[in-house]
Amino acid sequence: MKPIVLNQPDTSYLVIGNEAIARGAIEAGVDFCAAYPGNPSSEIMETLASVSKDLNFYAEWSVNEKVALEAATAASFAGLRAITSMKQNGVNVVSDFLTNLTLSGTKGGLVLVTCDDPGGISSTNEEDARPFSKLAEVPMLEPSNPQEALDMTTFAFDLSEEIGSLCIMRSTSRISHSRGNVVFSPLPERKRIPSIDPSNLRNTFPVALKHQTVIEKLETAKKIFETSKFNSYTGSENPELLIITCGTGYLYSREAINLLGLWDKIGLLKLGTTWPLPENLINVNLTKSNNILIVEEVQPFLEDNIKSIYAQNAINLGLKSFFGKSSGHIPKIGELNPDILLNAISKILNIKYQFQDKEYSDKAKNTASNLTPPRELGFCPGCPHRASFFNIKNALKFDARNGFVSGDIGCYTMAIWPTGFKQVNSVHAMGSGVGLASGYGKLHELGFNQPIISVVGDSTFFHAGLPPLINAVYNKSNFLLIVLDNSATAMTGFQPHPGTGINAKGEPTNKINIEDVCNAVGAKVEIVDPFDIDNASKSIYRLLQNENGVRVIIMRRKCALVQRKEGGFPYKVEIDSDKCIGEECGCNRYCTRVFRCPGLIWDKVSGKTKIDTVICVGCGVCAKICPKNAIILKEVKRND
Ligand code: SF4
Ligand code: SF4
Repeated sequence: MKPIVLNQPDTSYLVIGNEAIARGAIEAGVDFCAAYPGNPSSEIMETLASVSKDLNFYAEWSVNEKVALEAATAASFAGLRAITSMKQNGVNVVSDFLTNLTLSGTKGGLVLVTCDDPGGISSTNEEDARPFSKLAEVPMLEPSNPQEALDMTTFAFDLSEEIGSLCIMRSTSRISHSRGNVVFSPLPERKRIPSIDPSNLRNTFPVALKHQTVIEKLETAKKIFETSKFNSYTGSENPELLIITCGTGYLYSREAINLLGLWDKIGLLKLGTTWPLPENLINVNLTKSNNILIVEEVQPFLEDNIKSIYAQNAINLGLKSFFGKSSGHIPKIGELNPDILLNAISKILNIKYQFQDKEYSDKAKNTASNLTPPRELGFCPGCPHRASFFNIKNALKFDARNGFVSGDIGCYTMAIWPTGFKQVNSVHAMGSGVGLASGYGKLHELGFNQPIISVVGDSTFFHAGLPPLINAVYNKSNFLLIVLDNSATAMTGFQPHPGTGINAKGEPTNKINIEDVCNAVGAKVEIVDPFDIDNASKSIYRLLQNENGVRVIIMRRKCALVQRKEGGFPYKVEIDSDKCIGEECGCNRYCTRVFRCPGLIWDKVSGKTKIDTVICVGCGVCAKICPKNAIILKEVKRND
């Protein structure tokens, strides 16, 4: 049995932050879980789905975040406890429903977990989701370690039920993915029976009256937060510098103060309840020092709101100096680390801190870079996307009318780089590549004459690609949509989607065919195998020439990692060095310079291409692009 479901109270387990959040939901007696995957949030739902059968609660991967929150809200309206999780971009998707849900209120505990990605390590932006709690007027909590992530999750369910409002919990990459010892509490008896009272209308009307109620709920939350165990003060009672922080900033601040040995000069106010802010607690602590450093990741959310609280009370508090993102002591972008804090504190207190010896750190940096081979971000060996973009590139070149690709989010976004021949021209929100193409496709009426291709992945097609496709067909737009169907939400860890025919628990379910959906909305559809280089390029070229409405090509070929799990590829690949012409070939070694599969390497000594047998998976595509037939395929038994 997985440790996450063990009913062994007071036992400590080593888990990542996202597993701790899942355990918190289980300890709170969660009944209903719905989410859309996205790093760094995916493990929350993965953990919950993996134990949902054992613990008899419902779990689903929904088609997008808004639908996930709506489904979870239905459970809340029926008196159950429900959770939804997402990355920061997902909060944008839910925001329309969220700002209405605030007014209608909730019944059973309802928790939305956002896992923000400072630095945009696995994201297209580094947005801060915290302003959404202010915008939607719902309470927000921010854990600073896995134990707190667990404790805050159970507390968030209780608070949600106490005030009748959804609660947001904001994690960031380092909290979600760092591992720590977490003490489990007992598992509850779950006996809730869902029921809806039809006489209790769940809507936003009358708006002004409901808005008044929302403000009252927030006031209640604020009172609770004033004495919350999630807020704490440590350090000097008369500090030269007061640090106010939350989340990861708390741990980095502690480390920096420890290294500097400055607990007698610094006070550290940690806030776990970051909306609404506990004003009295903040005001009391502001009296302790005239120098305030505010430490947080991404936007100056705490900083701006604490300055606003200070302004209300400045006449009593006197003059203060604030340091943080506005003053430049804390960077406006990227993740924090202890060095940033050491630097900021040393500057403010005018302390000479002996950072790591420069000679030593330069040597360490050089040693690391010498030992690590340079590696570009690229598609895996055997990835169908490399072949798809190779086909797109060739078709656009042959068409010669300066066509371009309106891109979207997924592994295939990497086609903005050489791995996909730099074929993707723009990337924004989920589904926006199709929406932009819908607009480009109407510019022909205004004199625009470049061919347009939009690419979207299979999971993104269901998430947000369908409405703009319908818009395009309905408004008689004119472009070629290529659905890169690799039968997986590959980028976030192979979670199922409606095209896979499997649900979150791994059970078979209704499979939704992308071609049926496209046909049903009136778009012409062809299905091609991207590894069939000749036919795939010709199909793209032909449909580029036929400029008649919205045409769809589904490039269908399993993700290389899925294929490997299912037995692997059919070939062993060798180079016939008598045939290989090396530097004389095409673009001076066509396969390694242009096609760039990492399984192909250039042998400087022989002046010929070689196969890296460790990396090559045996997909066989490179054999189709070699003009001299120097790449030889030998059929092998799978897993040979
Ligand atoms: S293997 Fe084929 S494509 Fe690669 S360099 Fe040799 S001849 Fe050219
Ligand atoms: S067969 Fe060719 S294209 Fe496929 S993984 Fe091996 S080297 Fe790469």
